[in-house]
Amino acid sequence: MERLERERATVAAMVRIYCRAHHGGPALCRQCQALLQYASYRLDRCPFAADKPTCAACPIHCYRAAERQRMREVMRWAGPRMLWRHPYLAIRHLLDERRDRRTARRGAARPNPGIVTAAGERE
Ligand code: SF4
Ligand SMILES: [Zn+2]
Repeated sequence: MERLERERATVAAMVRIYCRAHHGGPALCRQCQALLQYASYRLDRCPFAADKPTCAACPIHCYRAAERQRMREVMRWAGPRMLWRHPYLAIRHLLDERRDRRTARRGAARPNPGIVTAAGERE
């Protein structure tokens, strides 16, 4: 599965797990649907494209503060549960995180995404 596609599937799975536990489900509630749409919108415009780090390790953090906070809550809840429900996505995500930590330790810079506005748009 391609990197961005995988990222999209991982976020969607996490939001579904979170929503089902907190908002009833089985369908996504309006708030979680909006959060997932926002994440997808940001992913489409990610200046790193296929070379993106995990969003948690991103030097830009293009999310607005409110969505970032909500996504953090979703990840905190759904992250540990992902291993049982979506082991492939969970393990790949953990490997991505490990790669990001190694890259950060080595001080290796990611390719310059260009000038990025506060909203994360590339200029
Ligand atoms: S810019 Fe950073 S936070 Fe935004 S989608 Fe790309 S990796 Fe995630
Ligand atoms: Zn919900």
